[in-house]
Amino acid sequence: MKKILVTGGAGFLGSHLCDRLIAAGDQVICLDNLHTGSRGNIAQLETHPNFSLLLQDVTDPFPESLNVDEIYNLACPASPVHYQNDPVRTVRTNVHGAINVLELARKSNAKVLQASTSEVYGDPEVHPQPESYWGQVNPIGIRSCYDEGKRCAETLFFDYWRQYQVRIKVVRIFNTYGPRMQKNDGRVVSNFIVSALNNENITIYGDGLQTRSFCYVDDLIDAMLRTMQTQDTFVGPINLGNPQENTMLELATAIIALCKSTSELEFMDLPSDDPKRRMPDIDLARKILKWQPTVELKDGLRSAIEYFEKII
Ligand code: NAD
Ligand code: UDP
Repeated sequence: MKKILVTGGAGFLGSHLCDRLIAAGDQVICLDNLHTGSRGNIAQLETHPNFSLLLQDVTDPFPESLNVDEIYNLACPASPVHYQNDPVRTVRTNVHGAINVLELARKSNAKVLQASTSEVYGDPEVHPQPESYWGQVNPIGIRSCYDEGKRCAETLFFDYWRQYQVRIKVVRIFNTYGPRMQKNDGRVVSNFIVSALNNENITIYGDGLQTRSFCYVDDLIDAMLRTMQTQDTFVGPINLGNPQENTMLELATAIIALCKSTSELEFMDLPSDDPKRRMPDIDLARKILKWQPTVELKDGLRSAIEYFEKII
C-alpha cells in the first residue's frame, strides 16, 4: 500500500483525487487548512481506515514523523476572487508550500507532483499553448500573486530536481469544472450555473468573447494519476486540459439552455489582465500519458448542474 500526501485535499480537485486514491487501495493523508475547501467535500472519506485529515497550513512545518511515497501538491486557492483576496498569502502558499513539499519529498525519497496552471502562460501570444511557450505574464498586476507564485513554484520544482535529484512531475492544469466547486467559488462555471438555477442575471465580464477550454474533473484526475505513474525520467511540464475552446457567451448560452433558465446576460467590466484566449496543446499528454478528455462539455455541465441543484 502506498502512503500518499494530498495537499489541498479538501478542495474541489483534491477531494476527487483523494476519492480515486482511496478507491485504488492507497493510504491517503489529506493536508488542508480549509481556506477554500470544506469537510463536506471529504465527508465520505473521513471514516475510511486508510484516510486521515491533517488540518494545517501547507506553509507551516510538517510533522517530523511524516514520511510518504508520493505527494500531490494542490494547496492553493484557485479562483481569482479567493487568491486576490489575500495576495501576499497566495504567494506564500505557492512558494513556501512548494519548499515544504519538496523538502518532504527529499527527506522521504518520495515522488512529488505540482498542480501548476495554464496561468503560467498569462495572456498568451501563442495559441494554442504548448509547454514550450514561456508565456506573457504581468509580474505586478492583480493576478500576479497566483501566476508568478505558480511560476516560482515550477522553478523550485525544477531546481530541486536538478540540484537534489528529487523526483518531480509538473502538470499545467487548464480550467476544470465539476461537482464540489463551492457555490461562492467565483469562477465562471459555478457563477453561471448558480445564477441560471436562481434565474438571476448571468454576469459576463467584458464582451464575453474571451475564450477558455473547460475540462471535466474526472478526465483531469485521470490525467494527474497517469502523470504520477510515468517513468522518473519524465518530469514535465505537461499540459492537462480539454482542447475544446469556447467563448464565455457560448458557455452562458449552453448553461441557460441546460438549466431551462430565464436568466438574462448582464455585461460588467473585464478585470485587468484577464487572458483573452486560452486553449491547451495536449499533444504531449496524448503521447506520454495515452490520454485525452472523454467528457463532452454538455455532459459535464449536466453533472455539475445536478450537483448545484442539490446544494443551493
Ligand atoms: P480549491 O480552492 O477548491 O482547492 C484548494 C484547496 O487548497 C482548498 O481545499 C484549500 O482549503 C486548500 N488550501 C489553500 N491554501 C492552503 C494553505 N495555505 N494550506 C493548506 N491548504 C490550503 O481549488 P481547486 O480548483 O481544487 O484547485 C486545486 C489546485 O489545482 C490549486 O493548486 C490550483 O491552483 C490548481 N489548478 C486548478 C485549476 C482548476 O481549474 N480547478 C486550474 C489550474 C490549476
Ligand atoms: N467570468 C465572467 N463572469 C463571471 C466569472 C468569470 O465572465 O461571473 C470570465 C472571466 O473574466 C474570465 C473567464 O470568465 O474571462 C474565466 O474566469 P475564471 O475566473 O473562471 O477563470 P480564469 O480567468 O482564472 O481562467
